[in-house]
Amino acid sequence: MSSKLLIDVQQVTKRFPVGHHEVEVLKDISFQVHEGEFVAIVGQSGSGKSTLLNMLTGVDRPTSGEVFVNGQRLKDLSEDGLAHWRRREIGIVFQFFNLVPGLTVAQNIRLPMELADLYTPLERTARVAALLDQVGLAERATWLPSRVSGGDQQRAAIARANANDPRLIFGDEPTGRQDPRSAAACFDLFQEWVDTGKTFLMVTHSRALAARTGRTIELADGRVIRDEVH
Ligand code: ADP
Ligand code: MG
Repeated sequence: MSSKLLIDVQQVTKRFPVGHHEVEVLKDISFQVHEGEFVAIVGQSGSGKSTLLNMLTGVDRPTSGEVFVNGQRLKDLSEDGLAHWRRREIGIVFQFFNLVPGLTVAQNIRLPMELADLYTPLERTARVAALLDQVGLAERATWLPSRVSGGDQQRAAIARANANDPRLIFGDEPTGRQDPRSAAACFDLFQEWVDTGKTFLMVTHSRALAARTGRTIELADGRVIRDEVH
C-alpha cells in the first residue's frame, strides 16, 4: 500500500490488576493502519476490542509497547496533551455513547467544536445543522439525551465524533443500538467518510458489516488471530 502510515501499534500489552493478581487483556499486539483504510475489529465479548481502542485513542495507556498515530508517539504526551490531541485529531464513537446528560443533542454535537476551537461560532452552528441532518436527528436537536431512544443517542454520538472533521475516527460497536435500517444508513455514512479520505476503525459484532469494510482484524483472548484484507 502506498498511502501514508497512520497507526503503528508495536507489541502492545495491557494488564489490569485484579485483586492481588494481574490479568493480561492485550498480548503482544502489533499492526499498522494506513490512511484511507476502513477496518473492522471483531472478536468475542471480552476479547479485548474496547481495551485496544482505548490504547489507540489515548483514553488509556499500554502496560508495554508503543502506539504511534500520525507520527505522534502517544506515550510522549501528558494527560493534558493527550486530551488536547484527542479533541483535535480524532473522533470517537464510544460504546456507551458518553453524551453529556445536561446538554441537548445539538449541544452535545457542538461541544467538541467549542473545546477544539477550530471553527468560528458561525461555522459551528452550520456544522451542527449539517451533522444533525446527516444522522437524521434534526427533529431531536433540542432534546436531552435521556428523552431520545438509544438508537438516537448513538447517532448523536456518531455525529459528534465527526464534529471537528477529524481525519481519523474510531467507533466501538457504533451501530449496535440501531435497527437494521438505520444501521445500514450509519454504515453508508461511515463509507462516505472513508470515500472522502478519512480512516475509520470500527469494532463490530456483525460479520456482515465487517465483510463490507476493507479489512478485518480479529481478536481472541487479547491476541490478533486474523488480519485479512478483503
Ligand atoms: P471487548 O470489548 O472485546 O468485549 P474488553 O476490552 O472490554 O473486551 O475487555 C477485555 C477483558 O478485559 C475482559 O475480560 C474485561 O473484563 C477485562 N477488563 C477490561 N477493563 C478492565 C479493567 N479496567 N480492569 C480489569 N479488567 C478489565
Ligand atoms: Mg467492548
